[in-house]
Amino acid sequence: MNYKQQLEVVQGLFIPPDTTIRLDCPFCSGKNTLSVDTTNNNIKWHCFHASCSAKGKYQGEKDMDYVNATFKKKEESSDIEFKIPDSFKILDSNSKAKKYIHKNNCWEAWSWGRADIKYDVKQDRVVFLIRDNEDPTTFVGAVGRALNSITYPKWYMYGNKDVPFKCGLPEHKEAIIVEDCASACAVSNILTGVAILGTSLKESHKQYLKQYDKIYVGLDRDATKKSYDIANELKSYGLQNVHVKPLSDDLKYFNTKEIKEMFNGGENEKR
Ligand SMILES: [Zn+2]
Repeated sequence: MNYKQQLEVVQGLFIPPDTTIRLDCPFCSGKNTLSVDTTNNNIKWHCFHASCSAKGKYQGEKDMDYVNATFKKKEESSDIEFKIPDSFKILDSNSKAKKYIHKNNCWEAWSWGRADIKYDVKQDRVVFLIRDNEDPTTFVGAVGRALNSITYPKWYMYGNKDVPFKCGLPEHKEAIIVEDCASACAVSNILTGVAILGTSLKESHKQYLKQYDKIYVGLDRDATKKSYDIANELKSYGLQNVHVKPLSDDLKYFNTKEIKEMFNGGENEKR
């Protein structure tokens, strides 16, 4: 069997993502000799039976979980203090960074102090600082968006990778899960945006979301299935007022007035 045929057989086993298992080999019928690993968005298979040629690797599309796993050298412990790098300069120091936040409706959130946005001169990124969930006066990390097409990955996480970037006002009763920091800023005058950055929902996201009366899931148009999966995950976590918000475009392309219309006046809505 060639690689392609083997891959089809292994895919036909329907092993869920992020799983490492041993099973009977469908190629040589060896008892428990086939190892399959679906972590990091790969499918790797290998049979331990000496005369069996089952072996291969399929690399799925690289998502943020994969990028993070590859790029971070060592899992930084969340209790290590995050120090803002010296290369983070004020936003005004770079015109591309300023242009980015204008074009992506972050300007208002930045100028009203709802978001802390800087420019990383070393990596040529516009960076969104992440505040601690419990103590908003402390920064625990940052998320940087590349400002040129050659910088990879497009989004880079500094410091703590578990605490979400969020942007909003303390009086907000509603929150929305969005794809990226710019979208979180764009909605932040009306409701609190929580960016998941292509990762799966983490425990700290769920913990943080518990304080809201109503939660929307508003991922990109092409992530509709993921939106429903996340909504279901939140519901099974015990959050009941969870709704998938159908979007005609990324939230970062809408201004506050349009966001307000979209959410029916948001928290000003009579309940
Ligand atoms: Zn085998």
